[in-house]
Amino acid sequence: MAELKRLSESRDLTRIERIGAHSHIRGLGLDNSLEARAASEGMVGQLPARRAAGLILELIRQGKIAGRAVLLAGQPGTGKTALAMGIAKSLGAETPFASVAASELFSLELSKTEALTQAFRRAIGVRIKEEAEIIEGEVVEISIDRPLSTAAGSSAGPSGATAPGKTGRLTLKTTDMETVYELGGKMIEALGKEKVQSGDVIALDKASGKVTKLGRSIGRSRDYDAVGPHTKFVKCPEGELQKRKEVVHCVTLHEIDVINSRTQGFLALFTGDTGEIRAEVREQIDTKVAEWREEGKADIVPGVLFIDEVHMLDIECFSFLNRALENDMAPILVIATNRGITSIRGTNYRSPHGIPPDFLDRLLIITTQPYTEDDIRKILDIRCDEEEVEMSADAKALLTKIGVETSLRYAINLITSAALACQKRKGKVVEIDDVSRVYGLFLDVKRSTQYLVEYQSQYMFSEGLGEADGDD
Ligand code: ATP
Repeated sequence: MAELKRLSESRDLTRIERIGAHSHIRGLGLDNSLEARAASEGMVGQLPARRAAGLILELIRQGKIAGRAVLLAGQPGTGKTALAMGIAKSLGAETPFASVAASELFSLELSKTEALTQAFRRAIGVRIKEEAEIIEGEVVEISIDRPLSTAAGSSAGPSGATAPGKTGRLTLKTTDMETVYELGGKMIEALGKEKVQSGDVIALDKASGKVTKLGRSIGRSRDYDAVGPHTKFVKCPEGELQKRKEVVHCVTLHEIDVINSRTQGFLALFTGDTGEIRAEVREQIDTKVAEWREEGKADIVPGVLFIDEVHMLDIECFSFLNRALENDMAPILVIATNRGITSIRGTNYRSPHGIPPDFLDRLLIITTQPYTEDDIRKILDIRCDEEEVEMSADAKALLTKIGVETSLRYAINLITSAALACQKRKGKVVEIDDVSRVYGLFLDVKRSTQYLVEYQSQYMFSEGLGEADGDD
């Protein structure tokens, strides 16, 4: 538990945001009735897709579609990853969001099923409720200096009134703290009637207020087995009872796995070098978490697992996903691809998006559309703000035109380089010339292809653009 606490505290430190490709996305930009606003929370256009993503979000929040899968399909640069980020941001910090590119799952260090299992478990949250001080049903040890074997007066109570004479420690076993406060005085009274000695263990029935002597010897948990699973020993400072305080830690199943994996340990979470985790460790964790759930100490929070470039998965991975989604703790799977009809990796079969038809059948499919000129202009505007680049209206108009003719991504990339060109000439505002300059320096896909076609004879192993490249 201590490590989980340390983890959830230190994880906040790692959430420092940098300016990345999607750092301007702060949500899906929807109103209360889940209608997409034209431009909001960094999101622009793509209204039907955002509306659909909003519905998915609502279902996730209501916990209705655990184990379902959503496919974001559309041309490159049409905001599939941005939509997934929008969902992630809207979910809030407590709902885990894990993101991987399918190609990352193929490494020499981890088998692909292990990598997928880790990705799944990174997307399953566990909310652990811990009673920081005193919890219901636990054994509370109260030290009250009071005379033994004499009836205590009404003045005696947990506040610690000390009577002259022989003093000793009484131990109270109670079901909740209210009882201690309410019945504290009564307990002292009741105990006074019994012959009790220092170290005696006393049970107090809240309903009847009846006090019974359980036995002797405090401090060893096995003496209190009858108390039940919540049994915990808390020593209160003399005369002072601490209040109940619930602390909630949110961690992922993967984090619990790593902490409990003897070969790795806590720090592996930060280096990412977690290695394979043994199946027994996971089984033990699952059993423990199931116990916590039953005892009301923990809840499962199914999060979102986003797999980009899903066409890079092979047939074995798809079969793994099919099975993993059946698990009752399964997160919502959001996958994205920009491929059309192409072969399923590891087979000679072709299918839409390179996804096997049986898996395709269980997906909710959201498509993204190419952007209009107006959308591109707005997105470039937002990106300029995000990158703190001041750009003249003319330069923005040119950049928008470039975005329409090449791609949104290429135009976004030119913002930083144009700002650098501007900085070089000691300018403050990016002008048309800066944009033209970097446009000349860096080729977009179309010009790069054209160049290659013209000069292909000067390159090694050049065979020109074949049929096979066509569907990519
Ligand atoms: P690919 O198929 O190549 O992976 P994609 O569909 O995932 O592309 P993104 O990476 O989401 O495309 O979009 C390209 C860039 O444009 C990103 O910086 C993204 O944040 C931004 N972007 C895309 N759509 C929007 C939008 N609707 N509003 C604001 N920014 C957007």
